[in-house]
Amino acid sequence: MREILVTGGAGYIGSHVVRALEARGFAPVIYDNLSTGFRDFVRGFELVQGSIGDYETLCALFREREIACVMNFASFIAVGESVELPLRYYENNVSRTVTLLRAMLDSGVKRFIFSSSAAVYGEPEIVPIPEDARLCPTSPYGRTKHFVEEILRDLDVSSEFRSVSLRYFNAAGAHPSGEIGESHVPETHLIPLVMRAAMDESYRIKVFGTDYDTRDGTCVRDYIHVNDLADAHVLALEKLLEEDRTLAYNLGNGSGFTVREVIESVRRVTGRAIGQIDAPRRPGDPASLIASSDRAVKELGWKPRYAELDSIVETAWRWESRRLRKGY
Ligand code: UDP
Repeated sequence: MREILVTGGAGYIGSHVVRALEARGFAPVIYDNLSTGFRDFVRGFELVQGSIGDYETLCALFREREIACVMNFASFIAVGESVELPLRYYENNVSRTVTLLRAMLDSGVKRFIFSSSAAVYGEPEIVPIPEDARLCPTSPYGRTKHFVEEILRDLDVSSEFRSVSLRYFNAAGAHPSGEIGESHVPETHLIPLVMRAAMDESYRIKVFGTDYDTRDGTCVRDYIHVNDLADAHVLALEKLLEEDRTLAYNLGNGSGFTVREVIESVRRVTGRAIGQIDAPRRPGDPASLIASSDRAVKELGWKPRYAELDSIVETAWRWESRRLRKGY
């Protein structure tokens, strides 16, 4: 069985990928410091507790195991926070990731799947955005992802290190089992916060910016189900192991929804009223991000199964109802 080290595997996207890996016959080894992840998300899987900034622990792990590839999900993800605390983002998402890469290179582990982001594009010139569009991030978070992608390209030139960067658009939804899903403390993402407004009449969702040049003035994003993302990771891994080339793919549905349309979808799915309040723009937010995922569809054979926003929101709602009982 090919062992795959999944850093940040106890988090939202990582824990879904861990299940997809197992289903395809890989042996995931989770590496997570549980700073934002949950032990419960990876019950029944092997968990090694550690930081991606801990060179010695990583080298020891690479010595003991036959790791075919590392998938890195251990990253900070809040665009707004990255504007306020840029060094926190550069430290974790760049410096510690460099330490992880150094431990890999020094240990002869040469395959890497990187969680990148649509944030690398900034304000796009072409929509839907193709992979060869200009990379010009508008936030420190986006820059951390861009810098690591550049480092990965340098490693491709300087050594036999090969990687796939997967540029996620807006990961959303939850595993249909309702066992794992999105849970961040504090929560900053739109769909979980709209769910909160559906559950709690006293909570009103803030709509960040109502004067964007979009159909209703609010930001447009491309929401992609986390299980579809997980499938793409396994396909990218298989391609990397087979073809040994450094590549980048967008992962999105190819259709965009405004903040108000997301709120409306949650209202439809839950049948509940959603309190909302208009608020100023959030710094670092581009107006519209929609993926062209043609390359992933053609080259990886990727077929997203959750094309409708409502079907994504339904799985998120199932998870929300359950996680409150479980106390995440
Ligand atoms: N958003 C909002 N209110 C919130 C959280 C998010 O209006 O409480 C908006 C945000 O400005 C962005 C979109 O919803 O336009 C998606 O934001 P999210 O943080 O979920 O993901 P991001 O696009 O930053 O990765």
